[in-house]
Order: sequence, then C-alpha cells, then structure tokens
Amino acid sequence: MGEKVGGRRPGPLAGLLVAVVVAAGCMGGGLDQGEPEQPGPRESGRAASPGADSTRADGTTSVAEFKQDFSDAVGIAERYWTDRFRASGKQFRPIRRVVPYTRSGEVSCGGEGLPRNNAVYCSAGDFIAYDVNWSVGAFRQVGDAFLFYLLGHEYAHGVQVRLGIRYNFTIQQELQADCMAGAYIGDNVRSGTLTLAEGDLDEFREGLLAVGDDPNQPWFAEGSHGTAEQRTDSFFRGYENSLDACGLG
Ligand SMILES: [Zn+2]
Repeated sequence: MGEKVGGRRPGPLAGLLVAVVVAAGCMGGGLDQGEPEQPGPRESGRAASPGADSTRADGTTSVAEFKQDFSDAVGIAERYWTDRFRASGKQFRPIRRVVPYTRSGEVSCGGEGLPRNNAVYCSAGDFIAYDVNWSVGAFRQVGDAFLFYLLGHEYAHGVQVRLGIRYNFTIQQELQADCMAGAYIGDNVRSGTLTLAEGDLDEFREGLLAVGDDPNQPWFAEGSHGTAEQRTDSFFRGYENSLDACGLG
C-alpha cells in the first residue's frame, strides 16, 4: 500500500511498544497533582522483554528514548487513522502537534496551564501534551505497552473531536478512547507493524491495576476515567475486536 511503514523497520518498534502516547483529553477531571514523578516502586522488578534487541523495552528507557518512541507511536497512529478514515471515504487530518513538557504550567491549553503528572489532548489547540517524566515513570511501572496505550488514548480524543463524538458523561468518552487505543494497538499488531513480546499484555494489565490506585496520577483518576478494571476491559475489547467494539457509529 505504499506506506513506508508497511514493512517493518528494524528499529525501535521491533521489540514492542516502546512508544508511548501520552496524550489527552484527559483534562476532564482531577487535574490536581501530587508530587513530581517518583521512581516507580516496581521499577526494578520489571523483567526485560525477553527476545531481543528490543532494548528500548527493557525498563531502562531514558527520557530521550521515550520521546523518540512516543513520536514513532504518533506516526503509527497517524497512518492508522488516515487509513481508517479513508476506508470510510473521509480524509483524516492528523493531530497538529505532540508536546512533551516537564514543568507545571509550561504548556497551556485554552489559557489553563497543564499540571504535572498528566497527559492530555487539548482540543483548543489540537495538540497532545504529556509530562515526559511522569510518562516515563508510568511506563516503567506498567510496561512496554503503556506508551502506545497512552498515545493511543490521547490520539483517540482527537479522533473523537473529528468525528463529532461527544458523550454526556466524561467517563463514556474516556472508556471509548481506551477502546480505540486498544484497537489501534491490536490492529497494528495484527498487521505486523507492532510486535508485542510475550507477557507484555499481562504485564500491562497488572501494571495498570497497580498504578491505577495512586491518587497522584490524574491520568488514572477514577472519577473521570473509570476504574482500572473498566479501563482495561475497554482496552481489551478494542484490542481483540478492533473498532467495531468501540461504538464509533
Ligand atoms: Zn482521556
């Protein structure tokens, strides 16, 4: 199909998801934050992905590597949604920018400074912004799939805007974005664009349940996003059944 990614670059994605997407739409609820990033308690316990040269997935990912992987994940999301839109006769306009930040208030959305420990899709400026230190910390706790989940989720908010989807309850909007993130990952795994190491999804599920309880991480705030169980259920519905499971209409 003439896409340059079609094949498989040996690079970063060869081993799995290291890319992360941290975006947003998650501004809905509790943006309050707690301490800046803490090294995750499970940091040292995470086993490296077996298999290979997927060195970027070994839990020692640096901020620089994370940013690179995140941007790879963005490229995959752009191609994914471009193809999906094209399949239904529409043209897709990629999200304008993805902005990593490290300080509270460094990036603003609609006049409001973004807090630490979060990732959002800002519809006012059509961009995704993420606290890179927080994201790397969560990535280390949750596992390799987290980067794609984060990006896939925030990117999905931009897609919802493009499709004019607006639920009455934030939580529906959020769980749909989780489903869409699952479809984005699952479809790319099925097409061979992404490779998941064995155990990555189990690690992902367990990691989400573990970090979902930390009140200092607004991205996981139950009030606006759903419980960790609801979120993983939605994610896996999309992962296994693709977008048909996400109620995009
Ligand atoms: Zn969200």
